[in-house]
Amino acid sequence: MNKEFGQNNPEVVDYVLDLFNPEDAVLKEVRERSDEHGLPQIQVGKMDSLHLEVLVSATGAKKAVEIGTLAGYSGISILRGMGEGGKLYTFEFDPKHAEVALDSFEKAGFRQNVELFVGPALENLNKIEAHGPFDLVFIDADKLSYPEYFDWAAKNLKVGGVILGDNTFAWGEIANTNFENKRTEDLTKALREFNAKAASNTKFRSTILPTAEGLTMSVKIKD
Ligand code: SAH
Ligand code: MG
Repeated sequence: MNKEFGQNNPEVVDYVLDLFNPEDAVLKEVRERSDEHGLPQIQVGKMDSLHLEVLVSATGAKKAVEIGTLAGYSGISILRGMGEGGKLYTFEFDPKHAEVALDSFEKAGFRQNVELFVGPALENLNKIEAHGPFDLVFIDADKLSYPEYFDWAAKNLKVGGVILGDNTFAWGEIANTNFENKRTEDLTKALREFNAKAASNTKFRSTILPTAEGLTMSVKIKD
């Protein structure tokens, strides 16, 4: 799938990429090194990494949680958005991904701003609860657990805090009723449940930003 945006118009995509230059040498190196190590190339798109940095900066977040580290590409954008004194708690299932990510954070100059937990996020999130409430939670790991990640974030965010959920258009399947296989159906239904929680939880006000992948954004408006 084309991970850029620009209304499916290649001229618009080129224009935007040329003007905003979303991927600097640090992020490019992360993407290439992660590919060399055989990691799946499923990090956020270039513009989505810039969206993350700018959104995080706009929220003024200093204490963020990321679920799904991969090679650290999106994590670096979140850390850049938080600026000096930012702290990122990031969760990654796969030890190999985690190892590559630690290198990335080091190379980006953020090693001391990151705590990385290896293993299933749902088994590790409780370890950071004492450091909460958090300013922002970015959810980008196994789609089946998105509803549970929403519940965790809802409990552990400050009022004014933000949840960002990636891939919430489910690769274009989100409104589909006729699935090609059970796996796609299960993933899509979990993302739908996540979006429904975001839309209906009265402690939050939510929208989906129409990025290439769909980015659900929820702000906590009351405790
Ligand atoms: N946010 C990253 C991409 C994450 S890809 C970026 O944009 O740069 C999804 C990651 O979630 C993969 O590295 C995968 O290993 C991890 N993952 C899958 N299931 C998980 C789980 N239960 N807990 C934590 N991480 C998980
Ligand atoms: Mg994603």
